[in-house]
Amino acid sequence: MALDNDIERILWNEEEISQRVSELASQITQDFSDTVSSSAPVVVGVATGAFIFLADLVRKIKLPITVDFVRAESYGFGTESNGAPRISCDLKIDIQGKHVILVEDIVDTGNTLSCLIAHLKSKGASSISVCTLLDKPSRRKVNFELVGKGKFYCGFECPDYFVVGYGFDFAEVYRNLPYVGVLKPEMYE
Ligand code: 5GP
Ligand code: MG
Repeated sequence: MALDNDIERILWNEEEISQRVSELASQITQDFSDTVSSSAPVVVGVATGAFIFLADLVRKIKLPITVDFVRAESYGFGTESNGAPRISCDLKIDIQGKHVILVEDIVDTGNTLSCLIAHLKSKGASSISVCTLLDKPSRRKVNFELVGKGKFYCGFECPDYFVVGYGFDFAEVYRNLPYVGVLKPEMYE
């Protein structure tokens, strides 16, 4: 595919991602199996980046769950977060008293996540967990706190590169690549 030519190197291929997503889903299934009798956990995807990860993850979670999306915008068309994410599309499902699993593509500075957690907390979620495909801890500027008995699930620790594919975009392109790779610097310089 023409898009492949813009990639400098692949960090995680389809098989590695699929294997890790299965592990995360089994862990979530195990951790939430005793909560579903009261109410089904709500899996909240952060649009657009988390859509592929969320689709793969929920099909491997063996529990009744509900699914919804929020949209937070911070990036525009650059590669650096501007530090002030805005919730531009809110939940449809009422999460009052529910266990929420927030599904993110990546935690970078932490701005988006801390803003989203505060937002979901204000809607009365009884716990907020985070499941992110990637984490770039070296880039953290803002710490986030989980809510209630919330847990943190992470697919892979990501080195400090700008990645694309498997939901990750650059200027809205590359999301449909089946792997996570590093974009050639000349593509955004
Ligand atoms: P934060 O608010 O933590 O700085 O940034 C979170 C958002 O920035 C992520 O949800 C993602 O959309 C975007 N982001 C951070 N790092 C990368 C990256 O390497 N590639 C892409 N495509 N987006 C990124
Ligand atoms: Mg995002």
